[in-house]
Amino acid sequence: MNNTNLKFVVVGHVDHGKSTLIGRLLYDTHTLARDKIEEIKKTSRDLGRETEFAYLLDHLEEERKQGITIDTTQVFFKTEKRQYVIIDAPGHVQFVKNMITGASQADAAVLIIDVREGVKEQTRRHAYLLSLLGLNQVIVVLNKMDLVNFGENSFIEVRETIGRFLDSLDIKPLLYIPICAITGVNIATKSGKMDWYSGLTFLESLDTLKNRESSENKPLIFPVQDVYKIGAKRILVGRIEAGVLEKGREVKLLPGGKVTSVNSIEKYLERKDRALAGESIGITLEDSGSTNRGDVICSPGKEPILSDTFSANIFWMDMKDFKKGERLTLRCATQETTCKIEKIRKRINSSTLEIIEEDAEILKDLEVGEAVIRSKKSLAIKTFGDVQELGRFVLVKDENICAGGIITG
Ligand code: GDP
Repeated sequence: MNNTNLKFVVVGHVDHGKSTLIGRLLYDTHTLARDKIEEIKKTSRDLGRETEFAYLLDHLEEERKQGITIDTTQVFFKTEKRQYVIIDAPGHVQFVKNMITGASQADAAVLIIDVREGVKEQTRRHAYLLSLLGLNQVIVVLNKMDLVNFGENSFIEVRETIGRFLDSLDIKPLLYIPICAITGVNIATKSGKMDWYSGLTFLESLDTLKNRESSENKPLIFPVQDVYKIGAKRILVGRIEAGVLEKGREVKLLPGGKVTSVNSIEKYLERKDRALAGESIGITLEDSGSTNRGDVICSPGKEPILSDTFSANIFWMDMKDFKKGERLTLRCATQETTCKIEKIRKRINSSTLEIIEEDAEILKDLEVGEAVIRSKKSLAIKTFGDVQELGRFVLVKDENICAGGIITG
């Protein structure tokens, strides 16, 4: 078995079968305890329905509310090949927030569509968000095939509609799979009902997904999260977002520009000579000067650019409209500054991708703006395509995240 988890998110229009699919996956991979299944079966029977796997997630949600389980926004299961984590995103705004703030990082996405209803508003919006977030490893499942008598024509029709839309977003799905989540057809096993489909089952298709490329081979990015002063010693703590840190290695501190070297690396009070991307550590430097939270430690010659003006795609997610001239707080990794959106070149409907207006003055809830941002302080940034951790940011107003953004240039 592969040791690395593969993380994926399931997105789609409400009621198209997201929870049912997840519940069915847990059932088919024998992740559920027997008593839990009995409980779900009984609840379904009492309501005069077929077994509702969606209840399983409600049940987990209930446990989460009561504080019993530690983290049910992540659901685990495994196949013979490896372990999977489903990042459960209760709504797309939550999903975007999690992705942009780095709270959860998916390797791949499953887009679910009710074959009878076809492509709906949220289907398109979620697909657009996947492209905005650089999540282009996508499997499309067409659900509720039972409602169209398992007919191939209905499958082909919806596959072509969503295919054209995904193509316009530059997303090329790995597979389109016809399923019936509620009875499990083409989830773990096939059935005689869709002999015209000769492709992989959904579980087999998951095993073909690849983990996101590791950031280890990229130049060093270590945003300083905090500085602990112990006597004359200063320990800089944070998470290595990209590259490798090594004892004795020369590093550069941004925005100051000082070049110094790494004196020691510590993790859980243990000394180390080397730490990799993804590790949370503390370091001391030969000369840390007046390093503060928000500084970024990188490799001299391979540092991110320092800039106070950049282009970005902003996803506005606040009921209150954005009005040009408003002052906002921008957070990018551990950096924080006030900023203004100087120009909104295009205001876009995130569901239809229609350009609502050029050179706009406002952004409404769930709209995307192709914008130019000017920040008060210079920031160490990268484009999102280059290093995601320094290429994404959130905008904050009155302590609330009101938008997420991706730096494009
Ligand atoms: P979500 O909002 O996307 O999580 O959707 P749910 O999983 O809650 O499903 C919405 C409704 O569709 C529920 O009543 C499910 O029982 C039903 N449903 C889900 N999958 C299927 C399916 O394969 N066939 C049929 N007929 N109904 C399904």
